[in-house]
Amino acid sequence: MDKSANKFLKFFEEQNSKMYFFISIALVLVIGCFTAFSMTTSYAVSIDDKVVGYVSSTESYHTALNTVQAEVETETGIEISSSYNKLEITPSHKLFVDTLTTDELTAIIGSKVDWLTAGALLNINNGEIQFALASVEDGQAILDELKAEAVQNQQGALIKSVSFLEDVSLEVVNVRIEQLENKDNVLAQIRAGKEAIKTHTVEEGESLWLIAHNNDLTVKELQELNPSLKSDLLQIGQELSLSKLVPLVSVVVTKEVTLEEKIAYSTEYKESAKLFKGETQTVTAGVEGKKLVTYEVKEANGTALEKEMIDEVVLSQPVTAVVNKGTATAAIASRSSGVTAGTGALNWPKTGKITSPYGTRSRGFHNGIDIAAKTGDRISAAAGGKVVLASWSGGYGNCILIDHGNGMKTRYAHLSGYNVKVGDIVTRGEQIGRAGNTGNSTGPHLHFEVIVNGKTKNPINYLN
Ligand SMILES: [Zn+2]
Repeated sequence: MDKSANKFLKFFEEQNSKMYFFISIALVLVIGCFTAFSMTTSYAVSIDDKVVGYVSSTESYHTALNTVQAEVETETGIEISSSYNKLEITPSHKLFVDTLTTDELTAIIGSKVDWLTAGALLNINNGEIQFALASVEDGQAILDELKAEAVQNQQGALIKSVSFLEDVSLEVVNVRIEQLENKDNVLAQIRAGKEAIKTHTVEEGESLWLIAHNNDLTVKELQELNPSLKSDLLQIGQELSLSKLVPLVSVVVTKEVTLEEKIAYSTEYKESAKLFKGETQTVTAGVEGKKLVTYEVKEANGTALEKEMIDEVVLSQPVTAVVNKGTATAAIASRSSGVTAGTGALNWPKTGKITSPYGTRSRGFHNGIDIAAKTGDRISAAAGGKVVLASWSGGYGNCILIDHGNGMKTRYAHLSGYNVKVGDIVTRGEQIGRAGNTGNSTGPHLHFEVIVNGKTKNPINYLN
């Protein structure tokens, strides 16, 4: 080798060794850093995107998770499908972090995580109310029970369909173990229902009974809802609470019901001059007919929503009533105004011999007729009317006065007893009292007066 070549080689060797040196340094640094880095790797455990702690290994995390799940499954007897909360483990390269022990992580997961199991949700009103159940079968059993209950007391009715008023659905989903409910408990909650807040402002003419009746409450329930109500006295404008519990679902039953109903009879009126105006006399009594009517009824929790008649079978036709209607007035019924005998509008209160006629007699003016009678004989109303007096009346003794309207009254005196009292409405021929010998009387007889517009008239002109 020549000198220059040697020199070059030496230079090259120097350069090379320098490079090797630098490469070695760099390698040491890289390996060192990598080692330091890998030695400080830990794992962040997060629940719902929130870090709850760090663990040194993934095994620790899985052990903690399995421990909690096994505990929950043993405790509840329910198989866990997954966690309700979002659980994550991610590597972390933070230096100098405190890591949790497996037991510590187990405790954290146990207290913060809720679990899901395969079950079903019972949704009422599009999920407004939800119940978590162990299975769809449980949900179906609840709905079946509610329907069975609704048709239980429908004897005689033909059930056409049973459904729910609300939107009710069952969904197969994972449900939170924490929210899982027993089916009997859910059934009880549905039946117990929720409070429907309602108030009523008292209007004129309303009573507690009417308000209660109109709102499907009893008076007692209404009073319980309004403890401040001390008496039945209501004031117009007063606010009453009508809040009551209504079930969470309303079972709609559509049914056919057949009822026996009455058919009203019509009344045919015939004019009669033998009766006073306003007076009536039944010739033929009306008889109601009967029919079988079939309705299709739709009701929700027992309250009718719709009722439609679908069939009608007449069992018996009604019998038309025939009623005589009076046209006579006190004036035209009188013989003195030209009406012939026997067409008078008054019935004899007692048949018998006239022992003393109407008019002037030795002892003075006789303002009625005396009809022979024995004590206790039946005395009847000469026409229909209202009893305006039934008591002792001086010389008349026991006396009855009947107002027939149209200015006409009749008086019955010297009675031994009464069958009516003041205010009674009597019909023509009805017994009003018993003949006697009371007051200014010398023997049992009936003293009978006809009074028209305040003046006595001769009864003979009015009697038929
Ligand atoms: Zn007399």
